[in-house]
Amino acid sequence: MTPLPQSTQYLIIGAGVHGLSTGWHLAMELEKRGRGSGQDIIILDKSGPGAGASGIACGCVRNFYMTEPLHALLRHSVDVWMHDPVAFGFQQVGYVSAGEANQIADYEKIHKSQNSVDYYSDLYVGADARHFLRTLWPDFKTEGVDVAIHEKVSGYAGTRQVIKGLAQKCADHGVRVFSGIEVTGYNIQGGQVKSVITNQGDMTCDLVIWGLGAWTPHHWRLLDKPGVVKCHYSDGTAVTKDMWTYWRLLEGEVYYNKPYVTPDGHNPPVLHVELMNTPVINEQTGEMLQDHLYVYFKNGNERMDHPGLQGGTIPIKLGPEATTDPYGHANDDYQADPWFADYLCSAMGQTMSRFEGIRPHFRERRNGGIGAFTPDNIPVFDWAAPNVYMIADSNHGFKMLGAGKLVAHYLMGDDPVDLKPFAFSRYAEGRTFGKSNSHSPWV
Ligand SMILES: Cc1cc2nc3c(=O)[nH]c(=O)nc-3n(C[C@H](O)[C@H](O)[C@H](O)COP(=O)(O)OP(=O)(O)OC[C@H]3O[C@@H](n4cnc5c(N)ncnc54)[C@H](O)[C@@H]3O)c2cc1C
Repeated sequence: MTPLPQSTQYLIIGAGVHGLSTGWHLAMELEKRGRGSGQDIIILDKSGPGAGASGIACGCVRNFYMTEPLHALLRHSVDVWMHDPVAFGFQQVGYVSAGEANQIADYEKIHKSQNSVDYYSDLYVGADARHFLRTLWPDFKTEGVDVAIHEKVSGYAGTRQVIKGLAQKCADHGVRVFSGIEVTGYNIQGGQVKSVITNQGDMTCDLVIWGLGAWTPHHWRLLDKPGVVKCHYSDGTAVTKDMWTYWRLLEGEVYYNKPYVTPDGHNPPVLHVELMNTPVINEQTGEMLQDHLYVYFKNGNERMDHPGLQGGTIPIKLGPEATTDPYGHANDDYQADPWFADYLCSAMGQTMSRFEGIRPHFRERRNGGIGAFTPDNIPVFDWAAPNVYMIADSNHGFKMLGAGKLVAHYLMGDDPVDLKPFAFSRYAEGRTFGKSNSHSPWV
């Protein structure tokens, strides 16, 4: 085993999508500018690459956000996904979102904003939306649907595949990744982190980068940062909020023995449907499960042992405290509730007639996963201390491979305009992102 070096210039903590993407892009920027190489970068992970949310995500890569600055970030991200789609397991099948009349104005804004940053999408309203959906899914039950958007460059990726691909890119550029090394504390002098304390001894470093996912709040506390933040909004109001809020995700898989394809035999776009005024009725009992429908699904691919689909619904808010270890499927406390299987299958059956009666084919397996959300549920990319840079994606950033690219440019002294809206200072400066017209925290 290579011994753990005692010092490095750039230390990245966490080998999820952000730690790995940042390591790879930073190495390329150092080389390009003649300022160093990947040899100057070390990534530590207490378990190993993909041990966090990046290894269990649904893998959806989309841009359906009511927060417009995310649209440009996702355009950078799709550029990265398309840099080597085979290595990253990226299936550019597109993404379709459908809603009711109460969201038409939101869809129009999203469509305009996406296209203004060259993230091309088509918008369909009224009968056109219903017709469009039936061209892709002839059995789509379009009653209630009044609007649809088709993001052509979106898609999904296999989580294991992208972690493998990113780790390979890091290795190709000389970035060293060490597994089983846990950062347990920071030695701070004059406000700067001089070294990190690990379970294998101390390591001095010039710059620390957090790609810590759900473990970010813990390290925030290690740096004695406050647990609440006053969030100022553009209308002059202010609300004090928890800095971090955990949510647990509800996702699962359904076996489906027929090919899940479009009429011309293609892999369909990732589908997202939010009908805010349409209840979900339990197909088996006739009882109402929820007064609104929110579901997303796609071909299961990498995650399945037999053909089927993978999907989910709105996560459940936990609060400022949660147990991060063991993580994901291994944590008994955060498995999807029993009602979730009924909900997912009933919602799928309400969406397309091919899925009516699919409940017996729900795949019973462990499927938990939690994430740490920011006060406005939008990523924070900024300094947590003078030499500690934080990539906190608010747990919807598997898709955001471009964050690491922009951060690498920023750390080299560039000033990427598309990173600016995600600065921590937005909370104090009245630029806290506002509420979106959705039941979900990540729309
Ligand atoms: C079930 C689920 C489904 C999701 N689906 C999607 C989706 O479809 N699309 C989407 O865009 N996003 C999705 N997300 C969100 C997305 O997966 C995460 O936002 C993203 O993967 C976070 O990446 P990360 O690199 O910041 O953190 P992680 O992938 O969580 O990586 C953090 C790493 O840090 C390591 N670590 C922690 N503490 C230490 C320490 N002290 N020392 C050293 N290493 C440490 C961990 O071992 C871990 O490997 C989903 C999340 C979940 C949980």
